[in-house]
Amino acid sequence: MRPPMCPARYIESVYGFDFDGEMKKGLKGAIFDIDNTLVPHDAPADERSRGFLAALSAKGLRLGIVSNNREPRVKAFAEACGGLDYVFLAGKPSPEGYRKLCAKLGLSEKEVIFFGDQLFTDIWGANRAGIESVLVKPIDKSSDIPRIRFKRYLEKPILYLYKKGIFR
Ligand SMILES: [Mg+2]
Repeated sequence: MRPPMCPARYIESVYGFDFDGEMKKGLKGAIFDIDNTLVPHDAPADERSRGFLAALSAKGLRLGIVSNNREPRVKAFAEACGGLDYVFLAGKPSPEGYRKLCAKLGLSEKEVIFFGDQLFTDIWGANRAGIESVLVKPIDKSSDIPRIRFKRYLEKPILYLYKKGIFR
């Protein structure tokens, strides 16, 4: 049995994910956390993230962002990436922000996949919303703010057991 904050999948990075393979299986959209999923915490959109999202969009995937960060941060990032749909102050692990974003994209929760770096917000929320959840390794843990560092400490035993294969 998989605890509610454990991801369906765990990968190194969004940048290596096989989107083509998932699109063949019916994937229509991808939702991302920003901080430490696409770029380090509070870092602006860089060439890599912009190029990556543009390439996914060119494949025909609908893209969006669900972030617990504030509007100026999320809006600036979404606009720098070609005007993505977004939800800010999403209150993850509430499922509401994910549902709101799916509605904006015009897709059902079953047609999208979500990527995030934190168990107790990102992954738990996606699971509650009924969205396939993918945990990624944080891009740069040293950019975490203290509140997030504390949560990473709490994540440790769960991640340890998850990586051992106990919850799969
Ligand atoms: Mg994050």
